[in-house]
Amino acid sequence: MSYYIPSGEKIEKALNKVLKRFRTVSSQHRLQQLVKKELKAKKGEQVGVSETRLRHIAINSGLVDLEIHTREGDPNKILARCPVCESSLKRVKNLTIWGGQVTIEFTCPICGYWTGKKKRIPTRYIFHLKKGK
Ligand SMILES: [Zn+2]
Repeated sequence: MSYYIPSGEKIEKALNKVLKRFRTVSSQHRLQQLVKKELKAKKGEQVGVSETRLRHIAINSGLVDLEIHTREGDPNKILARCPVCESSLKRVKNLTIWGGQVTIEFTCPICGYWTGKKKRIPTRYIFHLKKGK
């Protein structure tokens, strides 16, 4: 079995078609299946696009509102990069109104991921076509 590795541009085009047709795709794996189908490999060929690469392309395409579902992770784990898109996380301090306590949050300016002390580990992604696209 040989692999066909499409360019980022081709993947983005296929992604665009898939999102316009379905509006919402409820998992990364499903999105991968739909995009692969759209990219139509030749007979005997497999389309090679990993879920992670596809997610990165989707985030950078500006076509997607990404809904990130998470579970609680280890509070002692240090996150240097965004677990969703690998951008640098921004450290944000929030003052709570009542106690004047400071909470530290990390946010990603690219994909909208955020986490507090209890780390949020992404478990599922839902891809919505961005409004106005
Ligand atoms: Zn991110």
